[in-house]
Amino acid sequence: MTRHHKVAIAGSGLAALAAAARLHEQGVKDIAIYADGLGGTPYIAAINFVLPDNPYGDTPEQYAKDMLAAGYNIGNKELVREMAANTLRGYELLCRWGVTFAHNNDGSIKLRHVSGHTYPRSLCQTTNLIGVEIEKVMLKRLEEAGIEFHRHSVVVSLLKNDSGKIDGFTVIEEGKSGGEPYNVYAPVVVASWGGVGNLLGTSTYPDDVKGNTLGMAKNAGASLVDLEFIEFEPMVMMSPAGAVGEPCPTAMLGEGGYLLNSDGERFLLEVRPQGEAGAPKSLINHEIWKQVAKGKGNPHGGIWVDLRHIDVNILKAYPWFYNRLIQSGCDPKKELLEVGPMPHSFSGGIRIDSNYESDVPGLFAIGEACGGLHGACRCAGNAASQATLSGLLCAEGIMRTGELDRTVSEHPVVYNHDDSVRAKYLGELQKIAGHALGVYRNGTDLQAALEATQRIIDAPDTANDDLTAQTALAIHLIAKAALNRKESRGTHNRTDYPEQNPDYEKEFVY
Ligand SMILES: Cc1cc2nc3c(=O)[nH]c(=O)nc-3n(C[C@H](O)[C@H](O)[C@H](O)COP(=O)(O)OP(=O)(O)OC[C@H]3O[C@@H](n4cnc5c(N)ncnc54)[C@H](O)[C@@H]3O)c2cc1C
Repeated sequence: MTRHHKVAIAGSGLAALAAAARLHEQGVKDIAIYADGLGGTPYIAAINFVLPDNPYGDTPEQYAKDMLAAGYNIGNKELVREMAANTLRGYELLCRWGVTFAHNNDGSIKLRHVSGHTYPRSLCQTTNLIGVEIEKVMLKRLEEAGIEFHRHSVVVSLLKNDSGKIDGFTVIEEGKSGGEPYNVYAPVVVASWGGVGNLLGTSTYPDDVKGNTLGMAKNAGASLVDLEFIEFEPMVMMSPAGAVGEPCPTAMLGEGGYLLNSDGERFLLEVRPQGEAGAPKSLINHEIWKQVAKGKGNPHGGIWVDLRHIDVNILKAYPWFYNRLIQSGCDPKKELLEVGPMPHSFSGGIRIDSNYESDVPGLFAIGEACGGLHGACRCAGNAASQATLSGLLCAEGIMRTGELDRTVSEHPVVYNHDDSVRAKYLGELQKIAGHALGVYRNGTDLQAALEATQRIIDAPDTANDDLTAQTALAIHLIAKAALNRKESRGTHNRTDYPEQNPDYEKEFVY
């Protein structure tokens, strides 16, 4: 089997949906989406847009400043300003495709104040997660508009021709017994396959985001940036068992919640006297780590969050969180919650230009698959905004490049799969990454990770399984980037280089 399209999109999360929607609006026909799940999108609670009637006097310029400041000034300024300048258009795109947002009783849009932002500018739904709403309404409308969805389809490699351009990708249908790999041809391929997934072991990511895609992009010749910046969600539930992995929204700090150590101290006030509300996630992670290092943490390696004094109706306005706690036998009105940092999203990825095209012609990257926007740390709710805006701006960039009219060439179908190789190496790779690439890192562990991943990359049997080889390469590159950055900045913390260093305020490309 072979398929041909004008645009082939890998992934069906928010970035993919936004790109497909905007391409369709511009009259592009023959768009197809290939994926085996919905990625992180259905879990999105907060999405930021600066709307003209923002009651706090917010502006796109302030939004750009907040993004750059939260990113420790190493986000790509041009891309950040472009994203912020188009914030309203991102909101309007979602509205045109049927997404609705929660309103206050007076009819104004409900805005929440989440980490890293000067003003409340985070939109939501209060009856369900906004990400569930987005997937539900947009998938249906896009299908009705003629976008092809190939579900249960996993992209396993990119097809690059002799002149260095991307001609499509190879796909397998997951779970289909006897499903043969086949090639999908398109002059425009959009990587919207999400972030690092479970490369580091336990995380908040769903299983369909595997992170091997970073290695796949590298194998196709794409340049990668900001690989050392993995976002750790600071307040993920560490107990009881039924709630482990559920992020306690940092918006709870904006609702009046606060963090406590084992002595019952509101330790964040020592470094942030104005209060916990709006505290950047990186700061929360650092301070939690310090409390744990001082022996003032909880038994699971985190701290506690106190929500007991918050009105129950406010807690219930986060139903996915409140209901999961109650169902797990934990009442946030009655008890302190054990929370701590876990890998959650990725600020690095494929390096892109202002059209969201990589330096391999024909390969575009959006959402968590691309890097450079968030710098060393992203503002809360901004992964979703970036997914929307990158999808929109990429769809418009594709029209400018002229790639749609390119003729593609045929390639042989090549796919190596060996379950015994996966069983042998994937668990070991997760252990290596989880140990070396946590919230705090050091040169000795990173060097060991670099060597251990290189050994697996070089092992003769690794070549028998593409997923394993790509996974090993992805972790190897992240370890290399983390080892090279000899400073502490944003989400990247080195115990051997605890200070921020101005020499590192430039782009490192891998
Ligand atoms: C629990 C949780 C809560 C979150 N909450 C928020 C929030 O409140 N606000 C916020 O801004 N961000 C949040 N995030 C982050 C946010 O979900 C992601 O950054 C966002 O969904 C990125 O959109 P995306 O389209 O780039 O990727 P995703 O939504 O992750 O979608 C990736 C897509 O790629 C597919 N895919 C993966 N590999 C392949 C492959 N090899 N071939 C084909 N398809 C592939 C996946 O199946 C999926 O369809 C949260 C993440 C998690 C995990």
